[in-house]
Amino acid sequence: MWPSRNRTETVTCLACGTDRPRDEAREYDKYGDRWDREGKTFEHLCKSCHSDLCHHPRDELEALLVDLEAGRRNRDAFLARYLSTVEERYGPLEEES
Ligand SMILES: [Zn+2]
Repeated sequence: MWPSRNRTETVTCLACGTDRPRDEAREYDKYGDRWDREGKTFEHLCKSCHSDLCHHPRDELEALLVDLEAGRRNRDAFLARYLSTVEERYGPLEEES
């Protein structure tokens, strides 16, 4: 990582790789939970990629989260339902070994 020459912090868009000033980027949490900030680092998307994502969900996870009403349920209920749904659709989660 190069030391930055100025005080503007930049982030790299995870979709297109463009560096953007942090305050122009959108935070993207691959776990779909932008409300729990503790101990997490966010990835970032530039504005155009972010709006692309909103208009064109690119994978099943997005649809799954919508099905489960992510953000509208209480967290524990959501997580429990999420895990059981993922297991139903994709099979039991395996322990990493
Ligand atoms: Zn981008």
